[in-house]
Amino acid sequence: MSTPERITVVGAGLMGHGIAQIFAAHGHRVWLVENNPEVLNTAKDRVHANLTNMAEHGIDFSRDIDEILDYISTTDDLATACEDCGYVFEAVFENLELKQQIFADLDRLCPRKAILCSNTSVISITEIAEKAKHRERIVGTHFWNPPYLIPLVEVVRAAESADWCITATYDLLARVGKHPVHVHKDVPGFVGNRLQHALWREAFAIIDEGICDPATVDEVIRNGFGLRLPILGPVETADMVGLDLTLAIHNYILKHLNADPTPSTTLQAKVKAGELGFKSGSGFLEWSESEIAESRARLANYLISVFAEQQRQSKGGAK
Ligand code: NAD
Repeated sequence: MSTPERITVVGAGLMGHGIAQIFAAHGHRVWLVENNPEVLNTAKDRVHANLTNMAEHGIDFSRDIDEILDYISTTDDLATACEDCGYVFEAVFENLELKQQIFADLDRLCPRKAILCSNTSVISITEIAEKAKHRERIVGTHFWNPPYLIPLVEVVRAAESADWCITATYDLLARVGKHPVHVHKDVPGFVGNRLQHALWREAFAIIDEGICDPATVDEVIRNGFGLRLPILGPVETADMVGLDLTLAIHNYILKHLNADPTPSTTLQAKVKAGELGFKSGSGFLEWSESEIAESRARLANYLISVFAEQQRQSKGGAK
């Protein structure tokens, strides 16, 4: 077995602390770099809380939680964290200039063989790499929130990414239990966010047009085709129902679907009015504190149960 690579994660926010957790749970030493002292000081507590919650729901890490936490060191000094790293995963704010500067710094500070990955949600990796010198070692690795529970990571090839870099990153992610997929073209939104936001655009357009109320949009998805989605994606579903029927449906319906390049009018109006969702207690729907907590817990418990089931199956314990 190869020695676990030294990992550096830049940004210890929502995504960064969770990405650090994945590698530490698999025995990699991790530097977690953060320039906000409050976020830096609470990062390991947040990892501890995630791990405890997962353990309480029956997840087996094959090592103690304290041991996993010992694998993570925190710092505000990028240079120290880059000294002997094999991989960097960048998870700072979604801002092109900031990411370009960080990748130029990483390229200067990291060992020549280190691979540099960005967790941007939608920004072009090629643009993020622009100010770095050794751009062949820069790739996209798009994790999903929470990164330690959602298996998918999109491995995005930028214009100058080298094959060895893509292969090594894909293999590393598979070794730590993720489900990597190759994205061959560096397009805004990659694959997952293009699919996700195509659905959201239509959902919000249906609300704009008063076709049904906002709660009904989610009800239709959760009690209808959403039940199939964990088992069958649109490609397999289309093959199952028949491509001839799919073509007939598309010939009729596509012209009626929303293709507006600007966001929904309801969405714009809500944001203008300060109705931001959970943050303000009101968004498309109204939210009390207890409803917010219940919604978050429902999602976390579901994702943990899926994770636990996958762990049972991968250990051959499925009954
Ligand atoms: P966040 O705001 O929770 O965390 C970003 C952190 O980066 C902050 O704590 C900030 O202080 C830190 N930071 C900023 N500049 C820094 C610097 N120069 N050095 C060190 N730390 C620095 O954001 P997040 O939700 O974790 O998102 C991070 C990245 O991941 C973004 O690119 C985002 O688009 C992407 N992403 C987010 C999600 C999500 O659901 N939140 C999902 C997938 C990808």
